[in-house]
Amino acid sequence: MCDWDGIIVNAQSEEIVEATPQVVLLGLAMPVGGSGLDIAFTENLRGYEQEAVLPEQLIEIAGRTCYKTHDRITKESASQFVKTRILDSGHASVLEHSLAIFRITGGSRSFTHQLVRHRLMGISQESQRYCDEGSFRVIIPPSIKNNILALALYKFNLQICKAVYKKLIDILGKKYKEDARFVLPNAVESEIVISPNFRELRHIFELRCDSHAQWEIRNIALQMLGIMKQVAPTVFGDFIIDTEKGCAYQIPLTCEKAISIIRGFATKPARDRRLCCIEPDYIKALQHLTLCPNSDCKEAAEHIIFDIGRLN
Ligand SMILES: Cc1cc2nc3c(=O)[nH]c(=O)nc-3n(C[C@H](O)[C@H](O)[C@H](O)COP(=O)(O)OP(=O)(O)OC[C@H]3O[C@@H](n4cnc5c(N)ncnc54)[C@H](O)[C@@H]3O)c2cc1C
Repeated sequence: MCDWDGIIVNAQSEEIVEATPQVVLLGLAMPVGGSGLDIAFTENLRGYEQEAVLPEQLIEIAGRTCYKTHDRITKESASQFVKTRILDSGHASVLEHSLAIFRITGGSRSFTHQLVRHRLMGISQESQRYCDEGSFRVIIPPSIKNNILALALYKFNLQICKAVYKKLIDILGKKYKEDARFVLPNAVESEIVISPNFRELRHIFELRCDSHAQWEIRNIALQMLGIMKQVAPTVFGDFIIDTEKGCAYQIPLTCEKAISIIRGFATKPARDRRLCCIEPDYIKALQHLTLCPNSDCKEAAEHIIFDIGRLN
C-alpha cells in the first residue's frame, strides 16, 4: 500500500519558488574581417566595428550582393539600405542572414510549448529526461496570484506534484526521471535557448507581441523585442512597444515610404485623387501617419495635406 499520508505530509513541507522571466541575448550574427571582399569595401567597414548596428551591416553586405554595390557602404548606409531595399521593397529573405541567440529562463513549460511551434529556428531546451526536476521553480499566472483561494489551491497542487515526483524517483530510481516527469505540471520553469533569424523574429513579434497573444509568451516576446530594437533599430523599428498596454503594434511602411506615397497622391489631379483613396498603399500610408510616433513624419505629411487643401 502507498503511504498517502506520508506523501501529503511531505508535500506540505515542499517549498514553491516562483521564477521570474529573464531574456539574455547570447549572440548575434555580424560581419567579421577577412571576408575576401574587395579592398574598398573592407576599408569602408574599418573603424566602426563596435557600433551597435553591426547586424544590420551584415544584412547590407549580403543584400548589396544582388546589385554589386558594396562600394556604396558607408558608416551610415546600413539603416537606409535596410529601410529602402528590404523593408519597403518587401525583400524579407535578406533578413535571414542575421540571427540572434537568446537564452530564456523563468518561462513555464507551457510558454516553451508555444514558442517551439515556431519552426524556423534552432532550439535547445532543458531536458526533463536528464535533469532532476525535484526542486523545480514555477510560474504563477497573475489571475491566480491575485486570488487567495486560487493561489492556495495552485500551490497545494504544485506541492503534491513535487512530492509525488520525488517519491516516484525514490521508488523507481534516478534513471526513471524520464517517467517521473509525467507528473510535472505546465507551471514548471523550463530553460530554453533559441536562434531565430531576423525574418523569423519579426514573424514571432508580429504574432506574440500582439495584444491577443497569451500573456506569458507576450511578456517574454516583448523583452526580446526591446533588446532587438537596440541592436538592430531599423530592422525592428516598425514595432512600437506600448508599455501601458503590455503589447506591441506594427506600423506599416517606413516614414520615407509613407511620405513619398502621400506626396505622390498630392501631385495627382483632384479627380484621380478620389480613386487613389482606395489604393492599399495609400491606406497603409494613412495608417502609418496615424500610428507613427515620429513627429517629423507627421509634420511633413501635414505640410503636404495643407498644400493639397490650398490647391483645391
Ligand atoms: C494567438 C495565437 C493563438 C494560437 N492558438 C493555437 C491553438 O489553439 N492551437 C494550436 O495548435 N496552435 C495555436 N497557435 C500556434 C499557431 O497555430 C502556429 O503554430 C504558431 O503561431 C507558429 O506560427 P507559424 O506556423 O506561422 O510560424 P513559424 O513556424 O514560425 O513559420 C514562419 C512562417 O514560415 C512559413 N512556413 C513555416 N513552415 C512552413 C511549411 N512547412 N510550409 C509552408 N510554409 C511554412 C509560414 O509562412 C510561416 O508563417 C496559436 C498562435 C497564436 C499567435
